[in-house]
Amino acid sequence: MRHPALSRRTLLKTGAAGAAGALLPAPALARPDTGVSAYAFPLTAVRLGSGPFADNAGRTQTYLRFLDSDRLLHMFRVTAGLASSATPCGGWESPTTELRGHSIGHVLSALAQAYASTGDTAFKTKGDYLVTQLALCQKSNGYLSAYPESFFDRLEGGQSVWAPYYTLHKIVAGLLDMYQLAGNVQARTVLERKATWVQSRNSVLTYAQRQQVLRTEFGGIGETLFNLYQITENAAHLTTAQYFDHAQILDPLAANTDALAGFHANTQIPKAIAAIRGFHATGTTRYRDIAVNFWNFVVRQHSYAIGGNSNGEYFQAPNRIASELSDTTCECCNSYNMLKLTRQLFFTDPSRAAEWMDFYEKALYNHLLGAQNPSSAHGFHCYYVPLRAGGIKSYSNDYDNFTCCHGTGMETNTKYVDSIYFYNGDTLYVNLFIASTLTWPGRGITIQQTTTYPETSTSRLTVTGSGQIDLRIRIPSWTTGAQVRVNGTLTGTPAPGSYLAISRTWASGDTVDISLPMALTQEATPDNSAVRAVKHGPIVLAGQFGTQNLTALPALNPANLTATGVPLEYTTGSVLLRPFYKTHGQRYSVYWSVSSTPPLPAFVAHYPFDETSGTTVTDATGNGRTATLAGGSTRTAGRSGNAVLLNGSNAYVNLPSGILNGATSFTVAAWVRIGTAANWTRVFDLGTGTGAYLFLTPRSSAGTARYAITSGGAGGEQQINAPAALPTGAWTHVAVTHTGNLGVLYVNGAEVARNSALTIRPSSLGSTTQNWIGRSQYAGDPYLAAAVDDFRLYSRALSASEISQLQ
Ligand SMILES: [Zn+2]
Repeated sequence: MRHPALSRRTLLKTGAAGAAGALLPAPALARPDTGVSAYAFPLTAVRLGSGPFADNAGRTQTYLRFLDSDRLLHMFRVTAGLASSATPCGGWESPTTELRGHSIGHVLSALAQAYASTGDTAFKTKGDYLVTQLALCQKSNGYLSAYPESFFDRLEGGQSVWAPYYTLHKIVAGLLDMYQLAGNVQARTVLERKATWVQSRNSVLTYAQRQQVLRTEFGGIGETLFNLYQITENAAHLTTAQYFDHAQILDPLAANTDALAGFHANTQIPKAIAAIRGFHATGTTRYRDIAVNFWNFVVRQHSYAIGGNSNGEYFQAPNRIASELSDTTCECCNSYNMLKLTRQLFFTDPSRAAEWMDFYEKALYNHLLGAQNPSSAHGFHCYYVPLRAGGIKSYSNDYDNFTCCHGTGMETNTKYVDSIYFYNGDTLYVNLFIASTLTWPGRGITIQQTTTYPETSTSRLTVTGSGQIDLRIRIPSWTTGAQVRVNGTLTGTPAPGSYLAISRTWASGDTVDISLPMALTQEATPDNSAVRAVKHGPIVLAGQFGTQNLTALPALNPANLTATGVPLEYTTGSVLLRPFYKTHGQRYSVYWSVSSTPPLPAFVAHYPFDETSGTTVTDATGNGRTATLAGGSTRTAGRSGNAVLLNGSNAYVNLPSGILNGATSFTVAAWVRIGTAANWTRVFDLGTGTGAYLFLTPRSSAGTARYAITSGGAGGEQQINAPAALPTGAWTHVAVTHTGNLGVLYVNGAEVARNSALTIRPSSLGSTTQNWIGRSQYAGDPYLAAAVDDFRLYSRALSASEISQLQ
């Protein structure tokens, strides 16, 4: 964590004044980062509130407490010629696995992060012990590793060896975290000795020899060395960092060429992270361009709907997604590293903040949050996340796995607080909607964020303390109709894919309520537009297939998707869809073979109600959208011919499912002769329960007629409110039209009210199943007492003159 915008004096003050007074301030940087205009808060400044992230973090913390330090140290001691009676670890840490030793680095990072983000000194104590013991190993043989130095001889000699510098990077990164986050000065000493060893090992090689060495995966060694240079000002570390500039990968990226296909994905991502840290350390814009170009390629041309990348660990040709679905997609380390890269790019260029954080949220919720097994008290973790139809997640274990993703999983789950908020001077970026409390170092201001997002689409910020804050609230690109209220007052209509700025002097008790309505959408793959993932807002939904394996993508007609009433859950009629991050212990499909829904006709349905008997109501358009009378519906003389007579107690008319499915514009028009007018009856109400609906009531509790539409329950309604209730006792013509963001309410052919900020459309509601004349989605609302005639639905907005001609 780097935060040079805080002065050293502020840092010291923070350490003294913080609630967790025992926590050390992060050590000050000797060299401020170049080209940075946003900063992360220290992990000590943000605490998670309850929710899925805190649940994940708690399981990993339990595992960190459980892990036996001496077992982790065993092969380091053996390699250093020191005694060890511990049971060797298994998996990738076994005494014969060439990658052995990498996990202790992950554990050091995770312990440092767990300590900084919770204040629990048990994590620091455990990390301190590991550092002390690693220092003894280093002292014993001048080297520090769980495998012999001959591995590097093999590497430099062009012989086969797994990835010695990859492992070394994990160890030095862990040491750096113990120094920066847990104040362990010995860790810095061990780290600097190791960095000097790396320098001496490489300085005797030619450029060509070093480039040959770099063909073997080396992780983020360059990143850590750039970071060490920033901390120490020792130019030798900069020189060593640049030994790891891998021309074969960096040169095409500098030329903005996507030559990634065929390369091992997670080998390359840390090279881009090192590049952006190289820019911050040196100001060399070529490094920045490499990192930005790499991010653009990976996010736009190599990523799946869950935000992950790689198939069989390799980048494929650009824009191949549907053709690359397997059991070995989306290695978790890749997204761990892409999120690291993304936040560094945010610091570099906040003008693209909305784009950076849309991706960050996508990969965080849909890939990493769901990669930990919630049934495991120790937070066992996925390696790959299969995206073939019928795939199933599988997980690590305590001592016999220790894969790379088990390691980065420990890190991911101990730093969820690191990107919720960023700052620059008085500017505060609210990036993610995660229950948390920010205590702004040195400012005496606390921001508490209360939310159950994404199960609800709202979040509340509550300020304690006072002062000027230029607040920037992320408005995701996927939302429709975002609303932000300061102390209850609506503040602008922010555009999706932006940050809403609210600059003011804040006082204790001030609140900011953020509403981000979520709609049901599909994300098509670039190589097959019929292969799509289904999303609700930012959340990818997966079909739940239990023990049923699949040999092909399941078919999906989006018109059949209906909300179940449980947040973020839909059903196709036979298959349940729920958030992928909650999908565990069963086979699933994220991608579907989607059959396109034919577009609605312009004149969707027309019900003259001229039948004389039976419950069938013919659709006079000839489109076959037959309706049925239900409850105590009868017939009576209409405005022309017959009309349906609704008795006000149980009578209503049932319209077909999905009657406005996919519509972005529409008109509903009808003649009504209302008897007694009770509040909250419905002329019509098209919806799927109380979460998603559109309705017209003759009289709301405000005493006037109202049209409302929502995809997020009553709290998310967008409305058109008439100046009066609908008349009673006489035939009255009513119509609602909606196109673009404009909705208009007509009574007897004349406009009575409009709203030009309607961003929720019928297409946002999915396929509605409870489409009624005379009945509400809310069971407590009264039924309509009225005669209804000539009920019409269009998939376009009729003009005012067309409405008047329906009279
Ligand atoms: Zn991995």
